[in-house]
This record gives sequence, C-alpha cells and structure tokens, in this order.
Amino acid sequence: MIYPIVKYGREVLEKPGNRVVDFNSNLEKLVADMFETMYAANGVGLAAPQIGLPLRLCVIDTTAAEEPKTKLVLANPEIILVEGEVVQEEGCLSLPDFRAKTPRPERVTVRAQDIHGQEFTMTGEGLLARAFCHETDHLNGKLFIQHVGRLKRESIKRKVRKMMKAGEW
Ligand SMILES: [Zn+2]
Repeated sequence: MIYPIVKYGREVLEKPGNRVVDFNSNLEKLVADMFETMYAANGVGLAAPQIGLPLRLCVIDTTAAEEPKTKLVLANPEIILVEGEVVQEEGCLSLPDFRAKTPRPERVTVRAQDIHGQEFTMTGEGLLARAFCHETDHLNGKLFIQHVGRLKRESIKRKVRKMMKAGEW
C-alpha cells in the first residue's frame, strides 16, 4: 500500500516520535508499505512521521533499487559517532521541489534495532551518512531546513506559505 506523504506544515513532522516497542507482523506490513511508498516517490529514505505516524521508524535505500541487501530498516535509531563534514544539496519528500546545500557529517555510525528488534550498529559514508542523519532528524521532529542558512530557510518557508495560501501545497 502506498501512503500519501505528509508535507511540511503538519505538526507530526515537527514532534519527536514514540519508540517502536512491538516487533510483530503489523510492523513488517508497515515497513513493506513504507518501502513501497518511498520507491513510488523516488526517495532514498522515508521516516514514519512522513506518512503521519509519530513513530521512531525509518527505511533507507540509497541505491533506490530493489536490491534486498541495500534495504535498511532502522527502529529507534541513535547516532553514536560522527566524523568530518560535507556540504551537499539535500531535499526531502515532505518539502517537494526544494533543495538546499546542507552540511552533514562525512561518516556516521548509527545504533538501531532491525525489524525483529535485534540491535545493530552500522557506519555509513557520503549519501548513506546523510540519510542516517536526515531520517534520524525526522524522528526527532527536525527537518533539513534547520541545518541550512537562515536566509535560505526563510525563503523556503515564505514560498511554502504562499503555496499554502494558494491551495497548492
Ligand atoms: Zn525528509
């Protein structure tokens, strides 16, 4: 099932999510639906708040392909180590058509639980490191525009407000 993606402006995107506690078949179904939704939107990551669920759960596939080993499920993720910094254009499915140069660590180690509740740690570089940060931010109620310069952020917010007024958002 493909969920509609919640856009910037909705409260669920700016509130910390609740911990995942039930690792059951409902969670498996939800994760499958999140991958389907993410691929349909051509995204490389999707967090549960983006489909309206205040839950600390996200899916990532930086290859955007159906290669099973590149499909990552992170429940209750926490970033435990960061190194370096890279500034690169970043976007978000909840802010369609907006992109901005965003600084992120070059190398990121995340600790999370998998779909069965098993804890694991994983280190990613480049786009994967960026996805770890971007998706973990979502679970803490943060969006990438909080990491960009103030002028750029205000410009994006202004454009969104204009579109909201026009009923185009
Ligand atoms: Zn996002």
